[in-house]
Amino acid sequence: MRPRGALARAALALAAGLALAGGMRALRPVPDVSESLYLFGTMVEIEIHGAEAAKARAAIAAVDAHLEKLHHDWHAWRPGELESLNAAIAAGESFTVDAPMAAVLAQGKALSCASDGLFDPAIGALVEAWGFHADTLPEGDPPSGGEIARLVAAHPRMTDLKIAGQEVRSTNPAVQLDLGAYAKGAALDLAEADLRAAGITDAVLNAGGGVQVMGSHGARPWRVAIRDPFAWGVVAALELRPGEALHTSGNYERYLDAGGVRFSHILDPRTGRPVTDIVSVSVLAQNGALADAAATALSVAGLADWPRIAAGMGVENVLMITGEGKMVATPAMRARLTPVGDDFPAPIRLVDLPAVSAPRCD
Ligand code: ADP
Ligand code: MG
Repeated sequence: MRPRGALARAALALAAGLALAGGMRALRPVPDVSESLYLFGTMVEIEIHGAEAAKARAAIAAVDAHLEKLHHDWHAWRPGELESLNAAIAAGESFTVDAPMAAVLAQGKALSCASDGLFDPAIGALVEAWGFHADTLPEGDPPSGGEIARLVAAHPRMTDLKIAGQEVRSTNPAVQLDLGAYAKGAALDLAEADLRAAGITDAVLNAGGGVQVMGSHGARPWRVAIRDPFAWGVVAALELRPGEALHTSGNYERYLDAGGVRFSHILDPRTGRPVTDIVSVSVLAQNGALADAAATALSVAGLADWPRIAAGMGVENVLMITGEGKMVATPAMRARLTPVGDDFPAPIRLVDLPAVSAPRCD
């Protein structure tokens, strides 16, 4: 597989969500109900199988309202609960958040610790400095070396957060929270819970790079595909088991083009600079927040270090595609993948995960 240039990538960006959630269709007593919602800066597609239309639509309406609220509360740069919390942290004050916010922050802190800090939602100031606090692709120059060095030297870390019930404070005023790297996964986990509470058993939720399933599509599992980061199309397909989440982080949808260089929106908290050699990481896990956070962390870890981080985070199913189009995967993930067409776009090199114990943080 070879990189095929900016045009193909730009075209691909338009195809967000394409072919990611195509359930096989068979004769059935109740037609599937599907709806697309525009939330979290992306299309969220929900397809429900085996439920009466009115019940399915009511369930989707509940999800819509919930995700709308989360989008507002978790927004990294618009007025809302997270922005208020960030202002309090910058001022050295503690802040009382609502229960769902406390839960998602605690989850983010645990995931950040498990990733050895490579996934770190406290680096919002760096994300902002690189221009990614905008709905459109950033333009202009990258931040200066001096600015990056200053932001990195302040060492904002998720583990600086102290969460006591719903009261949150930070021991470091440089912490600026940006939940972008796991918000989609965490939100889809909550959406799944909403659907379950509404009596839905079989559904697929698909939000720009993240797809999660409940139950099955009748007699068949839900079948999904992983996008090709270089060309219009997919690199592999797989069947998701009930409750599984597949998240892909890539630098093909959000990036900064400056001086002939494409900078990824995934930053290495250790250097303050964008990830360079990895274009796509897919993680299959039992919940969306973990899969989403791990996909980001493994992008940062890169080709040499990702097995250690995957083991620390407890994820076993990983597919990584490098800037040169090389594909590497864990044996467990490889066993789940099937080619779409004759073969995979490149040979898949298998990498075993080391036996490491998860890092401990308080
Ligand atoms: P995508 O949105 O393509 O699924 P990610 O899940 O990797 O990609 O999220 C990337 C977003 O997460 C960035 O836009 C930024 O807001 C934030 N971010 C970037 N680097 C990191 C990091 N190392 N740890 C945590 N969040 C990050
Ligand atoms: Mg992510």
